[in-house]
Amino acid sequence: QGKQHTDIEIAQAAKLKRITDIASSLQLLEDELEPYGRYKAKISLDVLNRLAERKDAKVILVTSINPTAAGEGKSTVTVGLGQAMNKLGKKAVIAMREPSLGPTMGLKGGATGGGYSQVLPMEDINLHFTGDLHAITTANNALSAFIDNHIHQGNELKIDYRRITWRRALDLNDRALREVITGLGGPANGAPREDGFQITVASEIMAILCLAKGIDDLKERLSKIVVGYDYDKSPVFVKTLGYEGALALLLKDALKPNLVQTIEHTPAIIHGGPFANIAHGCNSILATKIASKLGDYVVTEAGFGADLGAEKFFHIKTRAEEINVGAVVIVATIRALKLHGGASKDSLSKPDADTLKKGFSNLQKHIETIKKFGKPYVIAINKFLNDADEEIHALLQWSKEHAHPVSLTEVWEKGGEGGLDLAEKVIKECEGDTNQITYLYKPEDSIKSKIEAVAKIVYGADGVEYSPAAEKQIKDFEEQGWDGLPVCMAKTQYSLSDNPKLTGRPENFTMNVRELRPSLGAGFLVVLTGEILTMPGLPKKPAALQMNVSSSGKASGLF
Ligand code: ADP
Repeated sequence: QGKQHTDIEIAQAAKLKRITDIASSLQLLEDELEPYGRYKAKISLDVLNRLAERKDAKVILVTSINPTAAGEGKSTVTVGLGQAMNKLGKKAVIAMREPSLGPTMGLKGGATGGGYSQVLPMEDINLHFTGDLHAITTANNALSAFIDNHIHQGNELKIDYRRITWRRALDLNDRALREVITGLGGPANGAPREDGFQITVASEIMAILCLAKGIDDLKERLSKIVVGYDYDKSPVFVKTLGYEGALALLLKDALKPNLVQTIEHTPAIIHGGPFANIAHGCNSILATKIASKLGDYVVTEAGFGADLGAEKFFHIKTRAEEINVGAVVIVATIRALKLHGGASKDSLSKPDADTLKKGFSNLQKHIETIKKFGKPYVIAINKFLNDADEEIHALLQWSKEHAHPVSLTEVWEKGGEGGLDLAEKVIKECEGDTNQITYLYKPEDSIKSKIEAVAKIVYGADGVEYSPAAEKQIKDFEEQGWDGLPVCMAKTQYSLSDNPKLTGRPENFTMNVRELRPSLGAGFLVVLTGEILTMPGLPKKPAALQMNVSSSGKASGLF
């Protein structure tokens, strides 16, 4: 092994095909493609009408154990598995989320996979791409402006400015904007009030875009957004204000999924990007659906560990739209398992099979969760170059002893070639009728029993404690008749519990529910646990410090 190339160096050395060629390989019609330059395109939703009768592909969901801050390679394995399936002669299409500039500039760098399993052009996808996140930010903030203007112009609806729940949004990590006062500077500037920003990927509009099935459904969902309450404490909806048309118009192009390619020219549809810790964590239904009509297999991912992304993929996404999940891939890395076994963050590259073994409990818990949903699974060990042989051997041995299907995956280093064994095992698990999903709660269960089902079955908690504010909200939501919706848990990604420091498989803990937020347009109730925030902050040395652009316009440092 010579000098190790960075993701961006590998990406920039790759030779891309024209996006029109990728589209033809999917038998997309010329009119169904709207190219954005040579290597990106939007796909018209008309394709869903044309292929309505075609059988849906089997969807492979890629999830993981609780990750370290660097990520465990879910995107990398998703891309690598798609490439490997194509190498095996299967027609696989990848469906992924669009990166957010928050983590890109902050902690994680890009979210387009890594090594020889990347989606391209990675600079574009990681930066402004086709503008979807900007459109969502604009729609989110247009609504804030409409609300403030309504109050400024006489407040006909008697909106209680102290009870406006709609927050502004920005697609950056900016802790200084978590709580702000707007409207300062006298009557000409509107009425002063407390507001706050959340990151765009936590906006209800992002969730709506990801769950909408078309323009009409988008508009209908936008109309249901609760923006706050009036002086009689009755909810005020977007519909009451009358702006669903304008918001849908702002989003009409953002609603169309984006087509790109991987390093090996496997088609990838990248669309929508809610985080899984503070939102529902899955790419858009439209992307998954179109991919399902164009391929025989769809490889998709849900954010963070199976406790967050996969749980919400099942309870929220597959309830909003029928998706035939054939199998689940659970990505595990040696370094994260060592962290779960009790290793300190700075000793993760040191071989330590004993600590590693202690960390298997975390993987075991996620396997149990996937089994509860009734889905077959394969463990993908995402191999890093400095993993010790004895460590890999210990994990393979443990999997064998417990009869867990497992594959050592080298897609980062070798591209699709490094995932052939995983692809074969996944295809095998997908055989037969896979349409059934066992849900862990019913939408009509009480709010508390839904929260408790997830907390106890998926997280392993003993019980749930509610803040007085959360208790009151639950009562209010029940009175409003909003209690029949699924819950969207907002929880730290680092632990199965709501305390990021509790690694491994925590036991004897209570979950703390602090607050609930109704996302009626998205169709779920957001449940905030622990200290989780919907506007992240930047670390001491943001990833942005490494970034640069040459005088010829070439990007560097995007990992
Ligand atoms: P996730 O989707 O789980 O957050 P990513 O696939 O985005 O993780 O990977 C996070 C980072 O780790 C990327 O920069 C990627 O290049 C790197 N990475 C992933 N897998 C490997 C590997 N096997 N070896 C080295 N680096 C890897």
